[in-house]
Amino acid sequence: MANRKNRTDTLLLKTTALAAVVALAQGCAQTTAQRQAPSDATVAAHVAAATRAAESDLTALLTLCKPAPAARPPQAELDKGLAAFIAKPAPPPGQAFDNLYFVGADWVSAWAIKTSDGIILIDALNTQAEAAALIEGGMRKLGLDPAQIKYVIVTHGHGDHYGGAPYLAQKYRARVVMSEADWTMIETRLEFATPIWGAPPKRDVSVKDGDRITLGDTSVSLYITPGHTMGTISPVFDVTSGGRKHRAMLWGGTGFNFGKDVPRLDSYIDSTRRMGTVAQAQRIDVLLSNHSGIDGSQAKLAALRQQPAGAANPFVIGAPAVERALNVMGECAQAQRDRFALQ
Ligand SMILES: [Zn+2]
Repeated sequence: MANRKNRTDTLLLKTTALAAVVALAQGCAQTTAQRQAPSDATVAAHVAAATRAAESDLTALLTLCKPAPAARPPQAELDKGLAAFIAKPAPPPGQAFDNLYFVGADWVSAWAIKTSDGIILIDALNTQAEAAALIEGGMRKLGLDPAQIKYVIVTHGHGDHYGGAPYLAQKYRARVVMSEADWTMIETRLEFATPIWGAPPKRDVSVKDGDRITLGDTSVSLYITPGHTMGTISPVFDVTSGGRKHRAMLWGGTGFNFGKDVPRLDSYIDSTRRMGTVAQAQRIDVLLSNHSGIDGSQAKLAALRQQPAGAANPFVIGAPAVERALNVMGECAQAQRDRFALQ
């Protein structure tokens, strides 16, 4: 008895000591990063930390560690780039989970969550034409009825995510959901304005951090993760694969395309840390994006189409990998913050 108690005590002590060491190390890392004046060395250290965290499976995220421009691109350049992206042939639509479907373009994604009482769509692509061809068309190919779209969650107020929303809202009376900050942004001064995108949606459902959209048997938790825009929504929801439940987070905005803005990068860094904690607490083991270059969704859907039934779902990357991904993005944001601070 005494022996067992001793062993338990020792184990407890070890665990506590380990936790203390980990906390100390984390505290030191953060304090060092906060206290150390930005320099080429701190930039390199953050890029190195991101590269380590990316291991071999998350290297796609390291594009975020490349230097970001201090100013937004001029309109003509933006339009030219967008037109080229939109002109790329779209991948086939596909089913990622029992209740989650990809109905996106090559560059930008849209996701349909099937519930017992209709469909929650996440993002609406660049234009009405894309919403018709890829969202409506894709759903029909997958056996889904676009008339069942009840909500369109727009992750953030850039036109590659809202361009098709007014069309779907008007045609199916779908409610358009956005954060208060991004409703205000699109109503007052668009961060990116181009006639290539569909017009912004009219103000509808405004959500705040922690709100949920519930439809039938499904509830989507909405986290506001400021950074890419100040009201970016990162939805968290359950998915099932072969009847097994998993928890997914869709990171709602990734790139640093806002120019030299150190406070905004600080918000981004805070968002990655906070969502790392959320991911750990909720055992989130699936990380999705609204751009397939970030989450590799096209390759994963192609793999799913090839593999035998019952094989492991490539979208399930595991909780540690989700935390590493948030760490990679946070370290890249810290590298960029230091670069801007040096300019
Ligand atoms: Zn964006």
